[in-house]
Formats: sequence, structure tokens, C-alpha cells
Amino acid sequence: METMWMARGSCANTPPRVFFPSDGVGVEIAKQICAGCRMTEPCLNYALEHRIDHGVWGGCSERQRRRILRRRRELAINAA
Ligand code: SF4
Repeated sequence: METMWMARGSCANTPPRVFFPSDGVGVEIAKQICAGCRMTEPCLNYALEHRIDHGVWGGCSERQRRRILRRRRELAINAA
């Protein structure tokens, strides 16, 4: 199943609101939890594939994910 990794993440027993912070300090706290997680790859891929705008996923902030998506678009354009 596509979301099996969710139950195995370091955040499984952490309130979801921790991963939807309202400021930079909150983002860093969430990223610290992600740093010790073994599910960062499927988590980040899930957020990127589903274009999830909000929250920290796979150790990446909203801004970082936007940057990744932008770079992928640029690479796709340059490869065409
Ligand atoms: S990478 Fe972060 S948000 Fe994703 S499953 Fe792990 S702890 Fe949770």
C-alpha cells in the first residue's frame, strides 16, 4: 500500500500539528524529528507526487519542496 511507511515513521506517535508548524522554529523542530526517521524517502516522494503544499514531509519544508519541484521542472524542460 502506498502509505504503509506512515505507520513506520518517527512521527507515528507525534501529534500531526508538530509537522504543520506556523513558524521557522516549528519547522526546525519537525525537521529534527525527521532527521532520525528511516522513512524520509517515501515520505518526501509522497508529498512531492501529491503536491502537498503544507507541512514538513521527509525532512523538507514547504519552501524546500517547492524548490525541488521547480528544479525538476527546469530539468525536464532542459532535457526536452
Ligand atoms: S520523514 Fe518526518 S514526516 Fe515523514 S514519516 Fe518520517 S518523521 Fe514523519
